[in-house]
Amino acid sequence: MKILVINAGSSSLKYQLIDMETEQVVAKGLCERIGIDGHLKHTPMVGGKNVFNKDVAMPTHAEAIAAVIDKLTSEEYGVVSSMKEIDAVGHRVVHGGEKFACSVKIDDSVMAALEECTPFAPLHNPANITGINACKAVMGDVPMVAVFDTAFHQTMPGKAFTYAIPYEYYKNDGIRRYGFHGTSHRYVSARCAELMGKPIEELKIVSCHMGNGSSICAINGGKSVDTSMGFTPLVGLPMGTRCGDLDAGVIQFLMNKYGFSIDEMLNILNKKSGVLGVSGVSSDFRDLDAAAEQGNERAQLALDMFHYWVAKVTGSYAAAMNGVDAIIFTAGVGENSRETRKAICEYFGYLGVTIDDEANSKRGEDVMISTPDSKVKVFVIPTNEELVIARDTRDIIGG
Ligand code: ADP
Repeated sequence: MKILVINAGSSSLKYQLIDMETEQVVAKGLCERIGIDGHLKHTPMVGGKNVFNKDVAMPTHAEAIAAVIDKLTSEEYGVVSSMKEIDAVGHRVVHGGEKFACSVKIDDSVMAALEECTPFAPLHNPANITGINACKAVMGDVPMVAVFDTAFHQTMPGKAFTYAIPYEYYKNDGIRRYGFHGTSHRYVSARCAELMGKPIEELKIVSCHMGNGSSICAINGGKSVDTSMGFTPLVGLPMGTRCGDLDAGVIQFLMNKYGFSIDEMLNILNKKSGVLGVSGVSSDFRDLDAAAEQGNERAQLALDMFHYWVAKVTGSYAAAMNGVDAIIFTAGVGENSRETRKAICEYFGYLGVTIDDEANSKRGEDVMISTPDSKVKVFVIPTNEELVIARDTRDIIGG
């Protein structure tokens, strides 16, 4: 069985074709500048076929999908002989609201429910819906599954997801903490239990997804019980360019003083804040490490803040779960920056965490970076959201 995994953004579309017998990626790629002009980078991973990396006209997502299918099935760049070999498509969908607590086969009623969730994610959900419609237009009635970033967090209890504002805004308008990166937190926590050789039902895990966007999740017995992102992905930790937690009074003060519209204000909080805003250097942690090493104090402050926030949220989740067995680092920063992991783990002496520097230097593999006698185990687990989407799609399509 081969499954095409699609992650559609407003002007981009990432894809992987996964062979479910081996769980191997047989081809992957990225369409960019959809609706502007269009570019496709297609990389076959098997069969010694050529990489395609050229401009292709993509006025809409439908042309992007058509170009992907064309390359997947072509003589020179292809990995399958025809579209019939693609058994199903799994779509990443950002927001499933309270309607979707797990992945679901897409039909007309699901499409209607996705539209209803759009006000919660006005930038992301329309792009995901466009991707699904484009696939339908090009691929006909191949079965499709939606996998939601929010679904894993639907197990959070009311005391964790409710905002302390008048309750009718939750009841009438759905204003609550939803959380994101659920597919990633689900994958790494399940993998962590495998690596520990214990049933996940018996484990208390804190998963730190640290990329451009970052969130932390408390996972008790395999279920998300709290997470740092909220109604939107803006809050929680300071991120690459997002502000993280912020007193709403600051928004009122700045809007009044500088005459910002709400859109201008949110643009600052989403795109110009976080470690970029504090450092004035970059949103990329590699640049921050380099600048800090050369004595840039604001780059150092941004890094110190990030480490501090990860440590403090992790500690609060250990308290919320009355203990923690394992801490996981994943995503771009979590998987690649041993300095960041080390700096964060220095806060965890009280948990009995000790780090093995040699293990912490490894890259690109699942690894326990704590010493064997560390009371709390610490892991680096490269995330694989596409594989989760493909597995869910297989499980749902398979019945
Ligand atoms: P996204 O949230 O966009 O999916 P990723 O999980 O791919 O992000 O993470 C991207 C970020 O990972 C980059 O912005 C960069 O800050 C960080 N990163 C990647 N490699 C390294 C590295 N070797 N050292 C430190 N940070 C890194």
